[in-house]
Amino acid sequence: MAYADFYRRSITDRDAFWTEQAALIDWHKPFEQVCDYSNPPFARWFVGGQTNLCHNAVDRHAATHPDRNALIWVSTETSEEKIYSFGQLQAEVERMAAMLLDMGVKLGDRVLIYMPMIPEAAFAMLACVRIGALHSVVFGGFASHSLASRIDDAEPVVIVSADAGSRGGKVVPYKGLLDEAIQLAAHKPAQVLMVNRGLAPMPMTPGRDQDYAALRDKHLNDRVPCTWVDATHPSYTLYTSGTTGKPKGVQRDTGGYAVALASSMKNIFLGQPGETYFSTSDIGWVVGHSYIVYGPLIAGMATIMYEGLPTRPDAAVWWSLVEKYKVTSMFSAPTAVRVLKKQDPAALKRHDLSSLRALFLAGEPLDEPTASWISEALGRPIIDNYWQTETGWPILSLCNGIEPANSKFGSPGKAVYGYDVKLLDENTGEELTGANQKGVVAIEGPLPPGCMQTVWRDDARFVKTYWSSIPGRQVYSTFDWGIRDEDGYFFILGRTDDVINVAGHRLGTREIEESISSHPNVAEVAVVGVADNLKGQVAMAFAVLKDPSLAATPADALKLEGEIMKVVDGQLGAVARPSRVRFVTVLPKTRSGKLLRRALQAVCEGRDPGDLTTIEDPTALQQIKELVNG
Ligand code: AMP
Repeated sequence: MAYADFYRRSITDRDAFWTEQAALIDWHKPFEQVCDYSNPPFARWFVGGQTNLCHNAVDRHAATHPDRNALIWVSTETSEEKIYSFGQLQAEVERMAAMLLDMGVKLGDRVLIYMPMIPEAAFAMLACVRIGALHSVVFGGFASHSLASRIDDAEPVVIVSADAGSRGGKVVPYKGLLDEAIQLAAHKPAQVLMVNRGLAPMPMTPGRDQDYAALRDKHLNDRVPCTWVDATHPSYTLYTSGTTGKPKGVQRDTGGYAVALASSMKNIFLGQPGETYFSTSDIGWVVGHSYIVYGPLIAGMATIMYEGLPTRPDAAVWWSLVEKYKVTSMFSAPTAVRVLKKQDPAALKRHDLSSLRALFLAGEPLDEPTASWISEALGRPIIDNYWQTETGWPILSLCNGIEPANSKFGSPGKAVYGYDVKLLDENTGEELTGANQKGVVAIEGPLPPGCMQTVWRDDARFVKTYWSSIPGRQVYSTFDWGIRDEDGYFFILGRTDDVINVAGHRLGTREIEESISSHPNVAEVAVVGVADNLKGQVAMAFAVLKDPSLAATPADALKLEGEIMKVVDGQLGAVARPSRVRFVTVLPKTRSGKLLRRALQAVCEGRDPGDLTTIEDPTALQQIKELVNG
């Protein structure tokens, strides 16, 4: 079928289109209404239907193919490899579900998961949705303050965690950070379930902390059936950064998400039951939710969960897994490819990669040299796709499962079916229909199945943040700039807000600024994203000190810079650490006190800062120019 027709039907004959896609999953009770959009911008998909994510991801495949590989866990950190068949995965998930029930978790309760990349993290996610509890996975690289704010927002009954993760052979202890976060948080979870990997000390708080292995023994033979929930029942929340310092809890439904993922596996990711999928992301990010855990399993595929670096023991490790497990679809990020390109360009050639149909890349702009290199080295299609934590699955991509299409370097492809993507003028809200006009990438409501339902416990923020930023119209803003060429291919040109993208990780500059400001000597700080060859962008901080003499000599400045970085590491995690903290006496602001972020960023990138007629103190940018060039 021609993709243009498929796409058009998804918009103009929406209900019939999604009814067909909905047949890809099992329903306990059929839905009565495909989409209820009577209260925009809140869309309710598959109203009246009942289903369960865990049933669709695990049980239905365990019933027909119990011995097929489901979860392949590989850790090059601890040199372990474990394979769980669908039957074994179901048994582990039922045990974990029994433990959660034992600890008092009920339908609609939240369970926070703060885990390294180990199988128990996937068991915990699947166990939650099995019993209708919402999981809230917090990326293991986040530190105590980030974790505490998420604990307070999600108010979990139980937290599931582990003694430690490991990165590059170095143990990264979790328990201390978790205890500190619980201490900082106003909300206290009733119980904490701890997986002991034997990597780091794991002091237990009596009455609160439970040992996973002991509790698992107790529930070894327990059976916990799936709880059928309404299609609109929330399955999880996942926090993401925005313009304000406070992360938003993206809330996802059950039925719409299952349908969107099942459909995307077939039409975008080219996955077939019995094949193997390998996504190199982390379960702490949306790609990990959609395309390590749920998507591949819903499709009846084996999924590889990988703990480790792409370069250890050598730069061929991922390709060795592709060969060993006959991976058919692989999903990674441009930063990882740039790392591999630098390390050992020949590594790919040493392995038989004939099973691989395509490599999917997402999360950040894919630059042309990286795309050309990997495309040539791999000899397989490279499919860029663009989406967000909020949407849960691609907004822009090539849907080669419908109709094979050529990619264009620098473009993540065309609008994916279900998404009524528009480019709008940021000032007038007018639609830009001509080729190559730059506008804000927006989506006309309703958002398709699988996208966020709302901001967790904050409907007003959902409406205000996402649907009210374009003048004169209620439309979803992605906060990205884009253009569309004459063939309908989009090109993404960067964020319209203060969000930066470091190695595919989305960070709010305000959050980093708040953390740096908590240092007792910092009076004021500005953080901007600056272009970087390896990571796409890095965070650069400029701080005004309460007492400038503290950074009088280069040695003093370096010491203070180290101290500030430690504060960020301790509060937010190393992932948010700025690449540099530079000291200035004044920040570039307008006379009304607004920080001139774009000008600051331009100077850091060696570009023309543009119109500076409103700047209060022109020496501010001069100082920064000298620092950056010196
Ligand atoms: P996240 O919610 O962490 O997935 O980040 C979403 C943001 O990452 C988007 O709003 C874009 O700014 C950026 N992004 C994701 N995928 C792509 C892509 N394929 N090309 C360009 N930017 C992307």
